[in-house]
This record gives sequence, C-alpha cells and structure tokens, in this order.
Amino acid sequence: METIPVNNLEAVTISTARRLLNTVFGYPEFRGRQQDIIAHVAMGGDAFVLMPTGGGKSLCYQIPAIMRPGVGVIISPLIALMHDQVAALQELGVNSAYLNSSMSPLEVQDVKRRLRAKEFDLLYIAPERLLMDHTLEMLEGIPIALFAIDEAHCVSQWGHDFREEYLQLSILHQRFPSVPRIALTATADAPTRKEIVERLGLTDAPAFIAGFDRPNICYRIELKDNPRQQLLRFIKNEHPNDSGIVYCLSRKKTEETAAWLCEKGWNALPYHAGLPNSIRRENQERFLREDGVIIVATIAFGMGIDKPDVRFVAHLDLPKSIEAYYQETGRAGRDGLPADAWMAYGMADVTIHRQLIDKSEADEPHRRLEHRKLSALLGLCETASCRRRVLLKYFGDELQKPCGNCDTCLVPVETWDGTMAAKKAVYLVHQTGRMFGAVHLIDILLGKETERTKRFRHHDLNAYGKGSELSEKEWASVFRQLVAGGYLAVDMERYGGLTITSQGENMLRSDERIYLRRDPVKVAGRKKKQGKQRAHLADNASYELFEVLRSLRLELARAAGVPPYVIFHDSTLEVMSAVKPSSFEELEQISGVGERKLQKYGKAFLAAIAGHMESA
Ligand code: ADP
Ligand code: ZN
Repeated sequence: METIPVNNLEAVTISTARRLLNTVFGYPEFRGRQQDIIAHVAMGGDAFVLMPTGGGKSLCYQIPAIMRPGVGVIISPLIALMHDQVAALQELGVNSAYLNSSMSPLEVQDVKRRLRAKEFDLLYIAPERLLMDHTLEMLEGIPIALFAIDEAHCVSQWGHDFREEYLQLSILHQRFPSVPRIALTATADAPTRKEIVERLGLTDAPAFIAGFDRPNICYRIELKDNPRQQLLRFIKNEHPNDSGIVYCLSRKKTEETAAWLCEKGWNALPYHAGLPNSIRRENQERFLREDGVIIVATIAFGMGIDKPDVRFVAHLDLPKSIEAYYQETGRAGRDGLPADAWMAYGMADVTIHRQLIDKSEADEPHRRLEHRKLSALLGLCETASCRRRVLLKYFGDELQKPCGNCDTCLVPVETWDGTMAAKKAVYLVHQTGRMFGAVHLIDILLGKETERTKRFRHHDLNAYGKGSELSEKEWASVFRQLVAGGYLAVDMERYGGLTITSQGENMLRSDERIYLRRDPVKVAGRKKKQGKQRAHLADNASYELFEVLRSLRLELARAAGVPPYVIFHDSTLEVMSAVKPSSFEELEQISGVGERKLQKYGKAFLAAIAGHMESA
C-alpha cells in the first residue's frame, strides 16, 4: 500500500490553489510568497502579510476565499474602489459583492438576501458597516471562509491613515474564533507592525514579510531648474501616451499645472481635497477608465488607487519623508512592467517643509521626528550612490549590489574632493553668526555687493570674494550637500538661516576628506529611453498591433462600464501583440488569460489580431 505523506493536505491544497491561479486568474506562477500564504490560510491559519504595493496581496485572500466553504469577507476602508474590485472579480467569473454606505437600503437588502443564499465567494465591506450589530448577526448566520483585513496599518493611531473602527476589529476574533483572519498592508515600519499584530490579536500568527524592493520602478531625482519644462520634457520624451500621477504640494499648484499641461496638449486633470466631491470623483473615474490620463494631485490622491498601469509618478515638489516618497512612487507600475518615479527638487522645497513642520500643531518630539525624516529624504536626493540602496536601507533591507535601474546607476554621478569648499562654507557660517541663508553666504563668497553685504559689513570679512573657484550654482550645490550630509542645518528659529551641527564642527577640526557629487551639467541632453517601456514590443508591427488591441479593449471596457485593465492588463496585450496567437489554444497560454476571459473576449481579440495581420 502506498504511504500517505504527512503533508498530503498541504500538497492537495497547493495544487488546488495553483489550478485556480491558472484557470481563473490566468497566471502561470505564484509570485514571491503567495503560495505559502495561500496554502497557510486555505488550511485555516491566521496570517500577517507585509508586501509592497503591487506585490500581489489580493490573491492571498481571494484564492483561499474561493477554496474554503463560505464567503470570504474583505474589510477595506476604500469604499470608492469596491465597485471596481467587484467588477474585476465578476469579469473573472468569481461571484462577489460589496456592502458600504454608498448603497441604497434596497441594494443592501438584496446583497444580504444573496449572502444568505450562499451565492458569493467574496464580500467587500467597509469597517463601519461590518461593525453594525445587524451585520455581525447576519454574518454569524452564514458560513464564513475567512476575514481579510486590508490596509491593516489603519489600526495604528500614529499613522496618517488611522481609522477609529479598525480598533474594534478585535471583535472578529471573539465572535468568530474559528474563522481564519489575514491582515495585509504595504506600509508598516517595525513599531506599526507590532501595533497591528497586537491590536488585531495576531501575535501567534506567522508574519509573511516580503522585501520592499520594487525592481521595475526606475528612481530619478533631478535638480529644479525650470520645473514645468523639465516635467514636460520628461512626459513628452518618455511617456507620451501613458497614465501617470504628478504630485504637487499645494492645491493651487495642482490646478495650475493641470491647466498648463492641457494647454500643451495633454489630458491632465487636477485632484485635491478642496475640490467638490463630484469633481473629485469624476476625475478619479476618468483616470481609472480612460487610457493616458495624467492626474495632477496633492497627497489627497492615491490611497488605494488600484490602477495597475500607472507608468509614471512625478513629484514637482518634495514629499515630507522617505515613507511618503515610497508610498507615492509605489503607485507606479503595479503590473510589474517598467515604470518611472521622477522628481525635481530644490532647496526652497526643504525650507517650505521646515516651516510647515514648525507651524504644525504637533508637540516637540513629533516635530523633531518630522525634521529628521525630512533630512533623511534630503540625503536620498543628494546621494551619489544607488538610490534604491539608500531607499531600501532606510526600510531595513540590504541590497547586495547597485541596482542598475536608478539615475545614479544609469548615469554614474561624478564626485569631486570638496573638502576645501566644505570647510570654507562651514567656516563662513560660523563667522557670520550662524544666521544667514545660502544665497547671502554665496554672495559673500563670490564678492557680490548687495544691500545685505553692505548692511552687515560683510565685505570686511576675509572670505569676501574668496570663492570664485566655484560658480554660484556650484556653491549652491555645496551648501545643499552639506545640509543633506548633516554638517549644516536649516535653523527655523532664525528664519531659516543655516547653522552648524556638531558633525560640522568636527569636520572643521578633522582632516576627513569630503567628496561631493557634481550636479549633471544639463539634463536636456539625456538620451531617450525609447523602447524600454514596452519590453515585449521589439518591432513596429507589434507596436501597431498593441495599439489596435488597446483600442479594442477600451471599446469593450466602455461597453461593460469597467476600467480597461479589468479586461486585460497592458502586459497581457503586449505579449499578445508579440506572439500574435491565431487560436484559442495559443491565446490561453498567455499570462492573464483565464478561462472566463477566453470565453468572453477570446473571439474578439483573435479576430482583431487576424484582421491586423491581413492588413499588414
Ligand atoms: P497589491 O494589493 O499587493 O498592491 P495586487 O493584488 O493589486 O497588489 O496585485 C498587483 C498586480 O499584480 C495585479 O494586477 C495582479 O493581477 C498582478 N498579480 C498578482 N499576482 C500575480 C501572479 N502570481 N502572476 C501575475 N500577476 C500577478
Ligand atoms: Zn541604483
């Protein structure tokens, strides 16, 4: 007789999960730790999952929910997305529904009736709705496959996405002790992680923590020169037909920039918390549903934006921390295809942020923390080494070698021995009483007579005019890097003047050598990265076919009232355009084409491909 392996249950579970992955979702392989997580939860275990945006968290609860008897309940604060999430699942042939405050009582009744009839595999629900007595009572009356707590960092009172109701979710454990719970988030530093696990009663559950790296995102940071033109050049050269997000600090600037981009022929829409709800909703919808829309937004935009084909995220202003930068840029390229995170920054941005922090209501320790976070971001901007390395290190991950996909890797930064310049600069700060900004100090170094140099009798200093070996821009760069390197600091108590840190004082006395990065001479001449964006499309014929399939997709999406990516992702269309399948069998081999989609759209896409081949 054959012996039954102890882990037979696990083997069977994995093979079932894999079959669902292939047939329902149309993907050939699991990514990262998906398989471990799915097997664990499908067999009834609790789990905590930390994965970067785009890592593939949804499958981690969707597949076990389909496998286990009963309905999988997904708790999410992002009401605006529920409709599209459910539409995407319906397209895959997975019966699902949502319950939130945007629905009429009649609609709610209908969903509840169908829940009792066990019609659904998945139910998306807002936390406030879940916690209502009658909802909990209803759920107690039907079989539940699992609870998935999405955006689990909302439980943290320190975080910026804190949701009161999340604190009460421990009730799930008490009222449904035998139902597995899986908490998921993309943003959690160690203390937040601990908070999530404790508050949700998951201390005994295994934590599945994926690396933070987003290898398909190319990080680029350049100096502000003429930011609008820089942005325009970036979009025009590299993303002329793509969807993207442009972040600005102020509401006014989002509107002005969007209007300006429209004038230049782009399809750009503003988004900020001051716009009427209806306009916000409309702009977000258009961003999700049309191809090639650029949204120009404040940080009010983005939490849970589930659009996989955002090809670039641009920052026209500095975010306030590396966390914020990583979260915002993380909205690019969730589909795993190449995407760009591009930023233009200048010293003025830093001053504005310092002022915002000092004007804020926060108490002293918090403000100090905010200042430190800003400094860390400045360090990223001024680094001469691999940006990804700096980013990952900040989150506690180590990258063995430079990434090869950031600006400092692609165009290595030249460095120069700036020891003398650094000493001159820091010493001048000291001599002038630690109260002036870089502009005035540079005037002194270059021997420029101004109102101020006269008023403060600064031409009497022996440093006056002794810095002509560097240009104004080069001195500005020296001061910026000294701030970023922690030798100088912006002192808000003295109106944003520069002061010397203890590290700066040590530097004056030591013979440590300081290497500074040389700012690129001109960005305009940068070679275009054409062809990089659509890796599969080697030739023009494939590219044309891609455009044909893209417009077919848009047509079908409009008719069905869903975003285009719900029908097929760009990556799937790319492979189709390259492979040019001529039969259902060939089409089915392509990643992203599951059984349901083959049935529903196979014919239309095969016809479009055949038609294009004939006319070509
Ligand atoms: P997250 O919620 O972690 O940000 P999603 O669950 O939205 O990520 O997944 C990101 C994208 O990756 C989605 O478009 C999803 O369809 C795709 N994806 C997830 N898992 C796989 C896989 N195993 N193979 C191919 N694509 C996948
Ligand atoms: Zn790099």
